[in-house]
Amino acid sequence: MPAPPVPRVTVIGSLNVDLAVTMQRLPAPGQTVLANTLAVSPGGKGANQALAAALSGAETALIGAVGRDQHASVALELLRGAGVDLTGVATVDGPTGTALIQIDADGENSIAVVPGANALVGVERVRGLGRLGGVVVLQGEIPPEALDTAAAAVRATEHDGGAPARLVLNLAPVVRVAESTLLTADPLVVNEQEARALVGRGGERASTPEGAARALVGLGVRSAVITLGAAGCLVAEPGSPGSSDEPAELAVRCERIDAVPATPVDSTGAGDAFVGALAARLAAGDSLRHAAAAGNEFAARSVTRAGAQASYQPERRAR
Ligand code: ATP
Repeated sequence: MPAPPVPRVTVIGSLNVDLAVTMQRLPAPGQTVLANTLAVSPGGKGANQALAAALSGAETALIGAVGRDQHASVALELLRGAGVDLTGVATVDGPTGTALIQIDADGENSIAVVPGANALVGVERVRGLGRLGGVVVLQGEIPPEALDTAAAAVRATEHDGGAPARLVLNLAPVVRVAESTLLTADPLVVNEQEARALVGRGGERASTPEGAARALVGLGVRSAVITLGAAGCLVAEPGSPGSSDEPAELAVRCERIDAVPATPVDSTGAGDAFVGALAARLAAGDSLRHAAAAGNEFAARSVTRAGAQASYQPERRAR
């Protein structure tokens, strides 16, 4: 019997180093404060999602860029350890993407992000990848034109006689992409705020996540998943068409999938954990509903531990 195909995920996206500093009070403009702790950790939505996909069993490749600096090795370390294919991560002049995070005693934060090398993951880079296969995952931290080019490359696989690729588009942050990119997403994955921003942009207002999910699929998005934090997620797909004078939103199947109960410690990177695990399960052939349930499960585990990538690691067995 032939071996089942290996689930394959290609993430095109950002790699960052997060420099997180804790302090009593955030400094006012012009003020200097003494901080308590400094944590240097790997981050970036692309890197986080690639790690989550690899730890969920997919053969995973990351396409991106780091700078020629000492932060690059921090950005790559856990990915390398998990066996992510990093041959598509270029080293370029300038800094590795960096998030400067200040956190006060109430947990309030202020963040400045230096895109650095991520800004150079552009159209030419994506064109140079050739034919895309398996599940392709994108987020909003590389130039939007590169997202449009990657989505067009996914669409091209639907007509070339080979196995078509599938696009998982996590439009976080919400950046302005071509309508055709949104309509290629299967699914589009966003949180509640992002969903609201997108639906507002389409000229239709939806006050509930379910209304937003229905509106997105009603606008022609192939499928949509809205993450709801501790409430799990919503999965929306086209249903059987009703009468032609029925609003498009009514012909949408929308289902809530409860979160896996967890005692939250730190939800940083929960959204990325969800997307990576969902992509891995879609690549393995699961239905969208089952893949979203796997996303809930992987993300729930991640919120019970500190950090983003550090919280994705499998449980170490006690000796
Ligand atoms: P972040 O910006 O923190 O990465 P996000 O806003 O992108 O998160 P959320 O909707 O907050 O995404 O969370 C993503 C997923 O993580 C949820 O769909 C759920 O599966 C899981 N999750 C988040 N918080 C909890 C929690 N308290 N308990 C269980 N699961 C959770």
